Amino acid sequence: MRKIEGTVVAGGGAVGLMTALRIAQQGVPVTIFESAPTLVEEYRASTFHPPTIEMLSEVGIADKLGKKALIADKFQLRDKEKGIVAEFDMDALKKDTKFPYRLQIEQYALVLLLFDSLKSFPNCQILFNHEVISANPKEDEVEIKFRNPEGEDTVICDYLVGADGARSAVRTSVNIPFDGMTYPERYLVTFTTFEFREIMPDLAYVNYVSDPEEWFVLLRSPGLWRVLFPTKPEETIFDTDPDPAVLDEIAQKRYQKIHQTEVPYPITWRNIYRVHQRVAASYRSGRVFIAGDAAHVNNPLGGMGLNGGLQDAFYLGNALALSWKNALNEPLLEHYAEERRKIALNFIRAQTAQNEENIRQKDPVIREEKQGEMRAMAKDNSLARDYLLRTSMIQGIRSMAPLPQIY
Ligand SMILES: Cc1cc2nc3c(=O)[nH]c(=O)nc-3n(C[C@H](O)[C@H](O)[C@H](O)COP(=O)(O)OP(=O)(O)OC[C@H]3O[C@@H](n4cnc5c(N)ncnc54)[C@H](O)[C@@H]3O)c2cc1C
Repeated sequence: MRKIEGTVVAGGGAVGLMTALRIAQQGVPVTIFESAPTLVEEYRASTFHPPTIEMLSEVGIADKLGKKALIADKFQLRDKEKGIVAEFDMDALKKDTKFPYRLQIEQYALVLLLFDSLKSFPNCQILFNHEVISANPKEDEVEIKFRNPEGEDTVICDYLVGADGARSAVRTSVNIPFDGMTYPERYLVTFTTFEFREIMPDLAYVNYVSDPEEWFVLLRSPGLWRVLFPTKPEETIFDTDPDPAVLDEIAQKRYQKIHQTEVPYPITWRNIYRVHQRVAASYRSGRVFIAGDAAHVNNPLGGMGLNGGLQDAFYLGNALALSWKNALNEPLLEHYAEERRKIALNFIRAQTAQNEENIRQKDPVIREEKQGEMRAMAKDNSLARDYLLRTSMIQGIRSMAPLPQIY
């Protein structure tokens, strides 16, 4: 059977490419199998948190991304009726990180930069139209079944990474459960050239707007406002793929409730998706590892899904490269699987679930109480810093056990 030296990464999304870059930069062979014919250039996530920017800086991408992105050094919690409840200034984190801000830029901008960087590594191959069907981990290698335009085939490699998204074929084929829940409503994310600062001049680039019935998130990325909100389950029962015109109609109604206009809002793009809170029961099965959405999915409130995935990739890529060079480094792989899973459970899942509960809180007493807490927190330097350490994902990284000794 044909052998591919080193690691095979299933999935050429942001997480797969970042894993491959970490491996390639250490001179270790890596091959990406991507099922699509080209890179997927969709509007998806758009926020990069400080620890992710630090990691992107280490792989030489942060400056390039920073030049294209907006710097969001403040974010707001707002009430749909009352306006600003609390504004958090990320400058409070200046002793905690070199990057006390979020970068606001579409996910595909990073995908393109990662892909460009990988092209300069002769030890990295990217194979499009290659869909991984299943994985079979053996003691010293992994057998992979895949499909390409010539048909089905099998290869072996040293390690396999499933960075193949939430429906991961890799995770499924090694029987790792993906327990959790799915929210009843689907989220509609829309993009508009309408300038929301004309009607809300005090907006930050990142705004979470709470309301018992009609909450939404307003995020700025270069040239566009992104408006994200949940739809009612009965609004989005589609027999086939949703018609963009139907989604725009739902969006126009919601936009009008934010601010009434005589003419329809210019909506330039829209996407609807199901939202889950799930964490894989394990991040490894022998020589097979999972990362990114294949390992954990969560609601987008707080922008932690892609960030968590990129952070997985940073640790996993390093662990795979070093273990390939020297088997004494294999404890790094266990460190990855244990520590990153704990973060998905204890920080990402916990924080995003809390964000969702706060933004849609229906009980007026709890709502008032929470808003009071947030107001007080924003005014108290020490409490604000604690909150920012959690919401910017720094606390999660700091909670990780130290890396095992490296040989
Ligand atoms: C429609 C949509 C909108 C989103 N919006 C937001 C948002 O607003 N905010 C937010 O924080 N997060 C959002 N997310 C989540 C965020 O985009 C993900 O967390 C992020 O994309 C995870 O990256 P990934 O590389 O793990 O997976 P993906 O980006 O899903 O990449 C997986 C890659 O693997 C490939 N692949 C799949 N199966 C196989 C296979 N069997 N073999 C080989 N290749 C395979 C796919 O083609 C893809 O290129 C959204 C996700 C979706 C789907």
